[in-house]
Amino acid sequence: MLNLVLFGPPGAGKGTQADFLIEKFKLIHLSTGDLLRTQIAAESELGIEAKSYMDRGFLVPDSIVIGMIKSILQENENANGYIFDGFPRTVEQAKALDILLDEMDTPVNGMICLCVEKDELINRIIHRGKTSGRPDDQDVSIIGNRIHVYNEKTKPLTEYYKAQNKYFKIKGVGSVEEIAQRVIDTVATL
Ligand code: AMP
Repeated sequence: MLNLVLFGPPGAGKGTQADFLIEKFKLIHLSTGDLLRTQIAAESELGIEAKSYMDRGFLVPDSIVIGMIKSILQENENANGYIFDGFPRTVEQAKALDILLDEMDTPVNGMICLCVEKDELINRIIHRGKTSGRPDDQDVSIIGNRIHVYNEKTKPLTEYYKAQNKYFKIKGVGSVEEIAQRVIDTVATL
Protein backbone atom coordinates (compact mmCIF):
# COMPACT_ATOMS: atom_id res chain seq x y z
CA MET A 1 0.00 0.00 0.00
CA LEU A 2 1.02 3.61 -0.56
CA ASN A 3 -0.38 5.97 2.04
CA LEU A 4 0.19 9.69 1.60
CA VAL A 5 -0.77 12.57 3.82
CA LEU A 6 -1.39 15.61 1.64
CA PHE A 7 -0.76 18.53 3.92
CA GLY A 8 -0.89 22.33 3.85
CA PRO A 9 -2.98 25.33 4.85
CA PRO A 10 -6.50 25.96 3.52
CA GLY A 11 -6.22 27.01 -0.13
CA ALA A 12 -2.82 25.33 -0.68
CA GLY A 13 -4.28 23.15 -3.46
CA LYS A 14 -4.54 19.80 -1.67
CA GLY A 15 -7.76 18.76 -3.43
CA THR A 16 -6.40 19.69 -6.87
CA GLN A 17 -3.15 17.79 -6.33
CA ALA A 18 -5.02 14.82 -4.87
CA ASP A 19 -6.80 14.45 -8.23
CA PHE A 20 -3.43 14.00 -10.02
CA LEU A 21 -2.16 11.50 -7.45
CA ILE A 22 -5.31 9.38 -7.58
CA GLU A 23 -4.97 9.13 -11.35
CA LYS A 24 -1.26 8.34 -11.27
CA PHE A 25 -1.09 5.92 -8.32
CA LYS A 26 -4.71 4.58 -8.22
CA LEU A 27 -5.24 5.54 -4.61
CA ILE A 28 -8.41 6.18 -2.65
CA HIS A 29 -8.96 9.88 -1.96
CA LEU A 30 -10.00 10.50 1.61
CA SER A 31 -10.87 14.16 2.20
CA THR A 32 -12.40 14.73 5.62
CA GLY A 33 -13.70 18.14 4.46
CA ASP A 34 -15.57 16.48 1.55
CA LEU A 35 -16.87 13.69 3.80
CA LEU A 36 -18.15 16.23 6.31
CA ARG A 37 -19.81 18.33 3.58
CA THR A 38 -21.58 15.18 2.33
CA GLN A 39 -22.93 14.67 5.86
CA ILE A 40 -24.06 18.32 5.99
CA ALA A 41 -25.88 17.96 2.64
CA ALA A 42 -27.60 14.81 3.96
CA GLU A 43 -28.60 16.76 7.10
CA SER A 44 -27.43 13.87 9.26
CA GLU A 45 -26.92 14.33 12.99
CA LEU A 46 -23.14 14.23 12.45
CA GLY A 47 -23.46 16.79 9.63
CA ILE A 48 -25.52 19.19 11.74
CA GLU A 49 -22.95 19.04 14.54
CA ALA A 50 -20.00 19.41 12.14
CA LYS A 51 -21.57 22.41 10.40
CA SER A 52 -21.60 24.43 13.61
CA TYR A 53 -17.79 24.23 13.70
CA MET A 54 -17.08 24.40 9.97
CA ASP A 55 -19.15 27.51 9.27
CA ARG A 56 -17.03 29.40 11.82
CA GLY A 57 -13.72 28.02 10.60
CA PHE A 58 -13.03 25.84 13.65
CA LEU A 59 -11.95 22.20 13.65
CA VAL A 60 -14.60 19.51 14.06
CA PRO A 61 -13.90 17.40 17.19
CA ASP A 62 -11.25 14.68 16.76
CA SER A 63 -13.66 11.89 17.77
CA ILE A 64 -15.97 12.67 14.81
CA VAL A 65 -13.28 12.74 12.11
CA ILE A 66 -11.33 9.79 13.48
CA GLY A 67 -14.56 7.74 13.54
CA MET A 68 -15.26 8.59 9.89
CA ILE A 69 -11.74 7.63 8.78
CA LYS A 70 -11.85 4.41 10.76
CA SER A 71 -15.01 3.15 9.10
CA ILE A 72 -13.72 3.93 5.59
CA LEU A 73 -10.40 2.16 6.21
CA GLN A 74 -12.26 -0.88 7.49
CA GLU A 75 -14.49 -0.93 4.40
CA ASN A 76 -11.51 -0.86 1.93
CA GLU A 77 -8.93 -3.22 3.33
CA ASN A 78 -7.69 -4.24 -0.13
CA ALA A 79 -7.08 -0.75 -1.47
CA ASN A 80 -3.79 0.18 -3.24
CA GLY A 81 -3.43 2.92 -0.68
CA TYR A 82 -4.86 6.24 0.37
CA ILE A 83 -4.42 9.96 -0.04
CA PHE A 84 -5.37 11.60 3.22
CA ASP A 85 -6.41 15.15 2.33
CA GLY A 86 -7.12 17.52 5.21
CA PHE A 87 -6.51 14.71 7.70
CA PRO A 88 -4.79 14.48 10.14
CA ARG A 89 -5.17 18.06 11.38
CA THR A 90 -4.16 17.53 15.02
CA VAL A 91 -1.48 15.45 16.72
CA GLU A 92 -4.28 13.38 18.26
CA GLN A 93 -5.58 12.56 14.76
CA ALA A 94 -2.06 11.71 13.52
CA LYS A 95 -1.57 9.27 16.38
CA ALA A 96 -4.99 7.70 15.72
CA LEU A 97 -4.12 7.31 12.02
CA ASP A 98 -0.85 5.56 12.89
CA ILE A 99 -2.73 3.12 15.13
CA LEU A 100 -5.41 2.43 12.48
CA LEU A 101 -2.82 1.83 9.74
CA ASP A 102 -0.70 -0.25 12.07
CA GLU A 103 -3.68 -2.56 12.55
CA MET A 104 -3.63 -3.01 8.75
CA ASP A 105 0.17 -3.63 8.77
CA THR A 106 0.85 -0.56 6.67
CA PRO A 107 2.45 2.83 7.49
CA VAL A 108 2.08 6.45 6.38
CA ASN A 109 4.76 6.52 3.65
CA GLY A 110 5.11 10.28 3.48
CA MET A 111 3.62 13.61 4.35
CA ILE A 112 3.66 16.00 1.39
CA CYS A 113 3.36 19.61 2.52
CA LEU A 114 2.28 22.23 -0.03
CA CYS A 115 3.78 25.61 0.87
CA VAL A 116 1.93 28.80 -0.08
CA GLU A 117 2.12 32.35 1.37
CA LYS A 118 -0.84 33.68 3.41
CA ASP A 119 -1.89 36.46 0.97
CA GLU A 120 -1.97 33.99 -1.91
CA LEU A 121 -4.04 31.55 0.19
CA ILE A 122 -6.66 34.21 0.96
CA ASN A 123 -6.87 35.23 -2.71
CA ARG A 124 -7.27 31.60 -3.81
CA ILE A 125 -9.99 30.85 -1.24
CA ILE A 126 -11.98 34.01 -2.05
CA HIS A 127 -11.76 33.09 -5.74
CA ARG A 128 -12.89 29.48 -4.99
CA GLY A 129 -15.74 30.83 -2.83
CA LYS A 130 -17.34 32.40 -5.91
CA THR A 131 -18.13 28.92 -7.23
CA SER A 132 -17.78 26.52 -4.27
CA GLY A 133 -20.81 27.88 -2.43
CA ARG A 134 -18.98 27.07 0.82
CA PRO A 135 -19.88 29.51 3.61
CA ASP A 136 -16.35 29.16 5.02
CA ASP A 137 -14.84 30.28 1.67
CA GLN A 138 -16.76 33.55 1.52
CA ASP A 139 -15.93 35.59 4.58
CA VAL A 140 -12.44 37.02 5.07
CA SER A 141 -12.62 36.78 8.88
CA ILE A 142 -13.63 33.08 8.72
CA ILE A 143 -10.85 32.41 6.20
CA GLY A 144 -8.44 34.21 8.55
CA ASN A 145 -9.64 32.00 11.41
CA ARG A 146 -9.07 28.84 9.34
CA ILE A 147 -5.49 29.92 8.63
CA HIS A 148 -4.99 30.79 12.32
CA VAL A 149 -6.34 27.37 13.39
CA TYR A 150 -4.01 25.75 10.85
CA ASN A 151 -0.98 27.57 12.31
CA GLU A 152 -1.94 26.76 15.91
CA LYS A 153 -3.25 23.20 15.73
CA THR A 154 -2.22 21.67 12.42
CA LYS A 155 1.20 23.06 11.49
CA PRO A 156 2.84 21.45 14.57
CA LEU A 157 2.16 18.12 12.85
CA THR A 158 5.12 18.84 10.58
CA GLU A 159 7.34 18.11 13.60
CA TYR A 160 5.49 14.83 14.20
CA TYR A 161 6.29 13.63 10.67
CA LYS A 162 9.79 15.19 10.56
CA ALA A 163 10.68 13.09 13.60
CA GLN A 164 9.77 10.02 11.55
CA ASN A 165 11.67 11.24 8.42
CA LYS A 166 8.39 11.40 6.53
CA TYR A 167 8.13 15.14 5.90
CA PHE A 168 8.48 16.44 2.32
CA LYS A 169 8.02 20.12 1.54
CA ILE A 170 6.87 21.17 -1.94
CA LYS A 171 6.58 24.69 -3.38
CA GLY A 172 2.83 25.09 -3.93
CA VAL A 173 3.01 27.99 -6.40
CA GLY A 174 3.30 27.79 -10.16
CA SER A 175 1.00 26.10 -12.65
CA VAL A 176 -1.13 23.21 -11.40
CA GLU A 177 0.83 20.86 -13.70
CA GLU A 178 4.21 22.10 -12.46
CA ILE A 179 3.19 21.54 -8.85
CA ALA A 180 1.78 18.11 -9.73
CA GLN A 181 5.11 17.13 -11.29
CA ARG A 182 6.98 18.18 -8.13
CA VAL A 183 4.57 16.12 -6.01
CA ILE A 184 4.79 13.07 -8.30
CA ASP A 185 8.63 13.27 -8.39
CA THR A 186 8.69 13.30 -4.58
CA VAL A 187 6.21 10.46 -4.22
CA ALA A 188 8.25 8.39 -6.68
CA THR A 189 11.16 8.46 -4.19
CA LEU A 190 9.11 6.93 -1.36
P1 AMP B 1 -11.32 21.42 4.13
O1 AMP B 1 -12.30 21.04 3.09
O2 AMP B 1 -10.24 20.41 4.32
O3 AMP B 1 -10.79 22.82 3.95
O4 AMP B 1 -12.10 21.43 5.52
C1 AMP B 1 -13.19 22.33 5.74
C2 AMP B 1 -13.54 22.33 7.22
O5 AMP B 1 -13.94 21.01 7.62
C3 AMP B 1 -12.40 22.70 8.17
O6 AMP B 1 -12.27 24.10 8.32
C4 AMP B 1 -12.87 22.03 9.45
O7 AMP B 1 -13.91 22.76 10.08
C5 AMP B 1 -13.49 20.73 8.94
N1 AMP B 1 -12.50 19.64 8.86
C6 AMP B 1 -12.05 19.00 7.74
N2 AMP B 1 -11.15 18.07 8.04
C7 AMP B 1 -11.01 18.10 9.40
C8 AMP B 1 -10.20 17.38 10.31
N3 AMP B 1 -9.34 16.43 9.90
N4 AMP B 1 -10.32 17.67 11.64
C9 AMP B 1 -11.19 18.61 12.06
N5 AMP B 1 -11.96 19.34 11.25
C10 AMP B 1 -11.88 19.10 9.92
